Amino acid sequence: MTSIVVLGSTNMDLVAYVARAPARGETVTGREFRTVPGGKGANQAVAAARAGAEVSMIGAVGTDDFGVRLRAALDGAGVDTDLLRTAEGPSGTAHIVVDDEGGNAIVVIPGANGAVTALTHGDEALIGNADALLLQLELPLSVVTEGARTARRLGVRTILTPAPAKPLPPELVAATDLLVPNEHEAAALTGVTDPYAAAEALLRVVPEVVITLGARGSLYASREAPPVTVSAPRVTAVDTTAAGDTFVGALAVALGEGRPVPGALAWASVAAALSVQRPGASTSMPYRSEIDMETNSRMDAL
Ligand code: AMP
Repeated sequence: MTSIVVLGSTNMDLVAYVARAPARGETVTGREFRTVPGGKGANQAVAAARAGAEVSMIGAVGTDDFGVRLRAALDGAGVDTDLLRTAEGPSGTAHIVVDDEGGNAIVVIPGANGAVTALTHGDEALIGNADALLLQLELPLSVVTEGARTARRLGVRTILTPAPAKPLPPELVAATDLLVPNEHEAAALTGVTDPYAAAEALLRVVPEVVITLGARGSLYASREAPPVTVSAPRVTAVDTTAAGDTFVGALAVALGEGRPVPGALAWASVAAALSVQRPGASTSMPYRSEIDMETNSRMDAL
């Protein structure tokens, strides 16, 4: 079984559904409220576990009720939480307003995520035994960098999702094997909007890049071979929340199992396409059997 460690965030998503978001100073009445376990780190962990890996999560929840639920959600998904800390104070929260046009506005308050400032010997041992370390940018950048450098030193593949978009410390970039931005993050990092040009620019600093392109699929580029594009299955999307996290989780599993990149990308694309057809973040993520069945039926249809 592929073994994956996620060093990342857990957040409780507090989602308000409303016809239109309020302007400054205005109060509007919304339609519905939901609390949903999320955070980019936890979402990638659940996606990888459902895709068939043995997954451990390094991060922190708070001492509030949300912390209990966030940990239970990971446990319930089969993610090992032995090294998930409980930090005094509130858990991370994401305050999300979703309007009737599907647009959203989000405030993230890191809470306990901000308390993950250094790795322990136990964390290092866990990372050293993994096939891949998954990283995002919702923990302090210093510990994300420490995680990547530790994995690099121990010969473990590092896969970084540079989200939410922000400038990357050069030491983090130098310890990244595979960078997986979406097209907006790729443009923010490089200053160019064309994904091929952005990939070329990113290859100057990392050896491999996958840029996700929403319904248009994904683009893989490495220093060794010409870029490859993989189209996304044509589906009717109802909710694209966490499509990128589902994609990365499944991609890490496929690469960990030694699948060649084009096949791994196609499998991850099927996983992400399944997730966008269902509502929610982690609730929408497919299990390995579903990804395999859908992949096989698509092959049969060719
Ligand atoms: P994004 O973060 O929007 O680039 O999406 C990540 C991945 O999810 C894409 O590379 C696709 O594989 C998949 N995806 C996102 N939106 C759709 C969609 N509307 N239809 C099919 N696949 C999608």
